[in-house]
Amino acid sequence: MRERLTNWAGNIEFGTTRLHRPGSVAELRETLAGTSRVRVLGSGHSFNRLADTDGDLISLAALPRAVEISPDRTTVRTDGGIRYGELAARLAAEGLALHNMASLPHISVAGAVATATHGSGVRHGNLATAVSGLEIVRADGSTAELTRADPEFAGAVVHLGALGVVTALTLDVSEAFDLRQYVYENLPAGALDEHLDEILAAGYSVSLFTRWTGPGIDQVWLKRAEPLTGDLFGATPADGPRHPVPGMPALNCTVQGGVPGPWHERLPHFRMEFTPSSGEELQSEWHVPRPAGRAAIEAVAGLRERVAAVLQVCEIRTIAADGLWLSPHHERDSLALHFTWIADTAAVLPVVADLEAALAPLGARPHWGKVFTTDPSDLRAAYPRFGDFAALAGRFDPDGKFRNPWLESLLG
Ligand SMILES: Cc1cc2nc3c(=O)[nH]c(=O)nc-3n(C[C@H](O)[C@H](O)[C@H](O)COP(=O)(O)OP(=O)(O)OC[C@H]3O[C@@H](n4cnc5c(N)ncnc54)[C@H](O)[C@@H]3O)c2cc1C
Repeated sequence: MRERLTNWAGNIEFGTTRLHRPGSVAELRETLAGTSRVRVLGSGHSFNRLADTDGDLISLAALPRAVEISPDRTTVRTDGGIRYGELAARLAAEGLALHNMASLPHISVAGAVATATHGSGVRHGNLATAVSGLEIVRADGSTAELTRADPEFAGAVVHLGALGVVTALTLDVSEAFDLRQYVYENLPAGALDEHLDEILAAGYSVSLFTRWTGPGIDQVWLKRAEPLTGDLFGATPADGPRHPVPGMPALNCTVQGGVPGPWHERLPHFRMEFTPSSGEELQSEWHVPRPAGRAAIEAVAGLRERVAAVLQVCEIRTIAADGLWLSPHHERDSLALHFTWIADTAAVLPVVADLEAALAPLGARPHWGKVFTTDPSDLRAAYPRFGDFAALAGRFDPDGKFRNPWLESLLG
């Protein structure tokens, strides 16, 4: 019997059971030489067919872990299989920090960067913006070393697995810092109308959670260095630890209540030792320019009953603009509307399509790793450098060894 190979969520069964786990870059080259169609699998946390193939899948989880800090302590070079949880703990032990983290530390660094995964914070770019160097093994086994000085670098960082195998990444780091995490409840709708920008800028990282069952925001998660007392624009401090998904144990989440702690134990919402989020779910997310944020929130509110019927929770975050060609935050400060859906593709897809129609006039770009139904031609039009990226992918992988149907239809 074939052993099923699926993504983390279980909604995608990959078209192959051939999963290779090379223990060295030399072994990886041998695997590449023996295949005509291949995709790299990170930690499998994407929700669509981006990482799928009917050829060979390669995981870099068995590569030797590398955490090499530069002598001036401004960068770290790490391997293509490491997860954020492990890298962050190693950096923190050295007194260093990354600028931000996603809601969970479980994801691989290379896979997260490939899809422009992000945390929150009006001043912070997505996680890919920390990358200053890439080592990529191409289809023919040759190695490309790219740095910010290369004109194609900004095209290669968010690459959707189209260029080759990322075997090492260099990331910017800074001196370690502490943060406090606060959860506030029941932010009134009026506060959102009048003070959205102030609320989103009230911390190093701010997330608004709502189930769209009422007019206001259920929870505000605020991470900052300075202590906070009293109410927050009418929202009141939670009287104990919370989980953003109703019914899930708060124990799975990072420490709250304003207790100071290291950056990597406050920036993610979920702890490495536990299942993140609900574990039974699908996810979608759209990014709109910050000035369109209020209109985007109103557009979702206009669909609140349809959305709430298939929703576990919605999270609103911010991301600073960057210059990466395929970043959804390309050249625009962004507001992100994330949806943790119930694990029922048939029920969720019609609502996804309705949300896309409502958000399209606002210039929404979907998260590359989540569920969306946007027409590939609209995606190509949403990225001014898309043509340059397609040309770059053609130069790195002329025979299309790293293509799959998902990429074929995107690249056109
Ligand atoms: C519970 C949960 C919470 C999430 N929270 C967030 C969040 O807070 N913010 C956010 O932005 N996203 C979030 N996501 C989405 C997630 O971060 C992205 O889908 C991310 O790409 C997952 O990383 P991965 O390592 O699992 O990549 P995969 O899904 O395994 O792969 C993603 C892409 O990267 C490519 N790839 C992976 N490794 C390599 C490599 N070494 N070389 C070349 N190509 C490679 C794959 O081929 C594929 O194209 C969440 C997902 C889950 C399940």
